[in-house]
Amino acid sequence: MDSSKIVAFEAKPFALSANYALGENELLASQSRRESNARSYPRRIPIALRRARGIYVEDVEGRVFIDCLAGAGTLILGHNHPVVVEAIQRALREELPMQTLDLTTPVKEQFIDDLFSMLPDELTRHAKIQFCGPTGTDAVEAALKLVRTATGRGTMLAFHGAYHGMSLGSLSLMGNLGPKAGLGGAQTGVQFLPYPYDYRCPFGLGGEAGEAVGLHYIRNMLHDPESGVLPPAGLILEPVQGEGGVIPASASWLQGIRQVTREAEVPLILDEVQTGLGRTGKFFAFQHADIVPDVLVLSKAIGGSLPLSVVVYHESLDRWRPGAHAGTFRGNQLAMAAGSATMRLVKAERLDLHAEAMGRRLKGHLVQLQQQLPCIGEVRGRGLMLGAEIVDPAGRADARGKRPAYAKLASAIQAACLKRGLILELGGRFGGTIRLLPPLIITEPEVDRVAEILAAAIRSAMESIDRVA
Ligand code: PMP
Repeated sequence: MDSSKIVAFEAKPFALSANYALGENELLASQSRRESNARSYPRRIPIALRRARGIYVEDVEGRVFIDCLAGAGTLILGHNHPVVVEAIQRALREELPMQTLDLTTPVKEQFIDDLFSMLPDELTRHAKIQFCGPTGTDAVEAALKLVRTATGRGTMLAFHGAYHGMSLGSLSLMGNLGPKAGLGGAQTGVQFLPYPYDYRCPFGLGGEAGEAVGLHYIRNMLHDPESGVLPPAGLILEPVQGEGGVIPASASWLQGIRQVTREAEVPLILDEVQTGLGRTGKFFAFQHADIVPDVLVLSKAIGGSLPLSVVVYHESLDRWRPGAHAGTFRGNQLAMAAGSATMRLVKAERLDLHAEAMGRRLKGHLVQLQQQLPCIGEVRGRGLMLGAEIVDPAGRADARGKRPAYAKLASAIQAACLKRGLILELGGRFGGTIRLLPPLIITEPEVDRVAEILAAAIRSAMESIDRVA
């Protein structure tokens, strides 16, 4: 296009403002003064970032950190991967419209091709896709409306420990009561069910016995005419609970859930916002169980670092009306271009398999540490979605010998990691689980370095806590 016809003002680059010269303390002080009390990560990770590449981020003071938080699992190719940067730059060079609502473009068509080529045929043969507002939570909201409309029912089944986002519909599905506190009726119409959290089995059984009882309970509930639980519009779950404490459901339990929901004609919604695109060692976590959901919710990695979310679902559910789920930012073309490039690289380089191998290595290090340190109660996860539950070795053991979560120590470990140049997140019950979500491009020496820092940080945190106690 001839830009002289469309640019009314001469484009002169603006000079960098004085803010770019501010130090870390000044930026953090300004942040806490001006930003909302609802801010979260900066409270535990008080740094101001300047730039980032691969698995590394650099703060404004020039300190470099390994980023095992990586945008809460979003940045599967790390920061500013050349393939992603090139895809974005090409889109800009080609004067791609940046936002198109839900109008189509060749970039969007390509994105759908790339995404569908990673999903099993059994799903894509009858699949429809809805582009959503750009966050995971909006795709969850869309999925709720989709199944409610299709079934004519108004309630949902969700799980203890679940995290599906922070808007009110998604929040109603959340296990953690904290974010729902003070919001009034934020939990209407949702029946919560026991997730197979082996370490703290809700039935006090653990192992296969705990899983079998859980499945039996759900099946019975759905068939008992006097259970008091209305036939639900859908059942939603994360195949590996993330924020809930990195809790993977076993393949057999997922197969059981698939069977139970099919028998009861309840649409199964899998939330793979965090697990999707190779994170767990398969393109999608449901592939570990060889099942296919009725509805799949995706976000985070699929936008190749930029905001994007979609719902992919069986065409038989496609009964909602035109405009039933809208949103201004459904047409983020840069995110689609970056997402396509990301998916192609994951496929071409088999980063799912790399995640599996690196995850096994990192888990091996963590298990070794666990054998030396009684404060690591359990090491768990799948692929490069790993967690270590921190417990109080001096606390009172439950009937199965499990010690209580030790959130204070987990926080001290997180702070000690940061001091040593490693960013990680906490999650799980009482915030007692250390969570590792490194980019999938992490190498063997980098995995070893993460484990080394973590080991030193745990030892130092234990000493400092003992000193205070
Ligand atoms: N579902 C899951 C499983 C998630 O982990 C998250 C975010 N951590 C969400 C939904 C919500 O995504 P967003 O923060 O983009 O709304």
